[in-house]
Amino acid sequence: MDIIKNDIKFIANTYKRQKAVFVKGKGSTLYDSEGKRYIDFGSGIAVCGLGQRNKKWLNATIKQASLLSHTSNLYYTKPCVSLAKILIERTGMEKVFFCNSGAEANECAIKIARKYFSDQNIHKYEIITLINSFHGRTLATLTATGQESMHKHFAPFLEGFKYVKAEDMADLENNLNDKTCAVMLELVQGEGGVNALSYDYVKKVTEFCKNNNLLLIIDEVQTGNGRTGMLYAYMQYKIQPDIITTAKGLGNGLPIGAAIFNARCANVLGNGDHGSTFGGNPVCCAAAIATINQIDEKLLESVNEKAKQIRDALKNCSKVEKISGLGLLIGIECDNAQEIVKKCLDKGLIVLTAKDKIRLLPALNISKKELSAGLKILTEVLK
Ligand SMILES: *Cc1c(COP(=O)(O)O)cnc(C)c1O
Repeated sequence: MDIIKNDIKFIANTYKRQKAVFVKGKGSTLYDSEGKRYIDFGSGIAVCGLGQRNKKWLNATIKQASLLSHTSNLYYTKPCVSLAKILIERTGMEKVFFCNSGAEANECAIKIARKYFSDQNIHKYEIITLINSFHGRTLATLTATGQESMHKHFAPFLEGFKYVKAEDMADLENNLNDKTCAVMLELVQGEGGVNALSYDYVKKVTEFCKNNNLLLIIDEVQTGNGRTGMLYAYMQYKIQPDIITTAKGLGNGLPIGAAIFNARCANVLGNGDHGSTFGGNPVCCAAAIATINQIDEKLLESVNEKAKQIRDALKNCSKVEKISGLGLLIGIECDNAQEIVKKCLDKGLIVLTAKDKIRLLPALNISKKELSAGLKILTEVLK
């Protein structure tokens, strides 16, 4: 079968794909349909944090799939409860809502923020997000996304979003009004160009939320699950958000998202207020348990070591103008990122872009051998 031709013919043309058809993988090594080997510095966009065919993940997934694949949320199942307990214990938050993607996790957060105030008969619904942010593709999360280029074609958009410049407290203060209910942000903007917010700004935003009775929502869809060097990036910033959302790396390849919220928001969602047919699916939850349980202190330490190794290797490349990001979410400023991606792919290395930067998202557990092999190609291309 001509996969590329039929893809173009039968699948909506929403993605600009690279010309590679992947058929299998192990760890951070992928193979295409022609048997060519690639080192993976993309992890399926921060999804496969433990690489392909991770043993514990695979065993847990197969075991659960062969027991029970789905029941709906009309009944209790153990994997989702166990996963919720693990997430609550490791975050110090209070409750979880499970869904299937990052956008859905953010939808849930937006609904909680609005209902939190509506429950108190306070008419506040406006959410402030950052320019250059990315929060998803549903209409609400697309509206939350602070990128004008994405606010075309699909009008009318949802009411109740304002966008402010990152690192600019005055802009935030100027956009506060009696309708503001929450601030929502990524600590490292992923799709927006791998921009890590400064600790000082994040601290000020946190205080601003506290002083003005706003909820603080941290979108950890990309930064979460060990990516930045701690289980969630908010821990690195030493803040206490009201709601965090996550997805991508949570299930190591199976679709699962979560909104995790603190005591303040714990009882906002009641019977019938929200739901998801697939949310908390036992197979996805079993996969997520196996994933989260492997993201321990030792692995997180190695994330920081690997990040340093990558940054050190890139320092001496003449085409590298600047390196940004946190942990293993790394941005590289250089000319013509698209061409670099193609050159790397030709040589057997998968890298991504974010805006006009190269973006690296290697698996947290990428082996020394794979990392060196990938860096050899990358530094050659960026020499
Ligand atoms: C990828 C991403 C989303 C959207 O996640 P989907 O699973 O594609 O819906 C939302 N927020 C951030 C920060 C992301 O990186």
